[in-house]
Amino acid sequence: MKTIGLIGGMSWESSLEYYKIINETVKSKLGDLHSAKCIMYSVDFEEIELLQHQGKWKELTDIMVATAKALKSAGADFIVICTNTMHKMAEDIENEAGIRVLHIAEVTGEKIIEKGLKKVGLLGTKFTMEQDFYKKVLKDKFNIDVIIPEEADREIVHKIIYEELCKGILKDTSREKYKEIISKLQAKGAEGVVLGCTEIPLLIKQKDVSVPVFDTTTIHGVAAVEFSITE
Ligand code: GLU
Repeated sequence: MKTIGLIGGMSWESSLEYYKIINETVKSKLGDLHSAKCIMYSVDFEEIELLQHQGKWKELTDIMVATAKALKSAGADFIVICTNTMHKMAEDIENEAGIRVLHIAEVTGEKIIEKGLKKVGLLGTKFTMEQDFYKKVLKDKFNIDVIIPEEADREIVHKIIYEELCKGILKDTSREKYKEIISKLQAKGAEGVVLGCTEIPLLIKQKDVSVPVFDTTTIHGVAAVEFSITE
């Protein structure tokens, strides 16, 4: 079993889910008392969030590279970045730390293709929805078209992530807002919805939506185990 190096704490609410999903997956695949070989380096999200909103991506890249290097020296065989947003610098982390990064958008793209979908809606932070780094992976590697919410709705999705979900606050009113925004994406042709922020699956479940949802936390966690035990 390869040792999984998790870059967590962004936020810890979703890192907890990763730890649980990874261990449950190992248990269901290997049985007995098997559990995941993993190391988590959990950062202080307040520092990260401030730099994100100041657009200081170079500083953030340096922090992520240093974190990946620390995991590598601690014995990690590959890296799982427990957030969609911080995949903005996935390539730099892989190159500069010299360790394989299991990309969240790539493993999600594989699931979308398995379902036979060509066009999906994407919910996530404004960074993930508006910048190119995430949508480009889905388009270039899988030829999947991505639809994002209109500007006012992107603002709502983003605000709920940072002001509620990352603080462990789950509100019915916010779930309803997300459901409305997802309906608008469906009306624009989305055949499925990518929950492209690792806290969104805490709020939105498959039962809330009439098209397939892609829970990136679960997809990424399960893929990490598959990579750890099979490749
Ligand atoms: N966990 C979130 C994500 O998947 C947002 C936190 C962050 O900005 O890293 O994008």
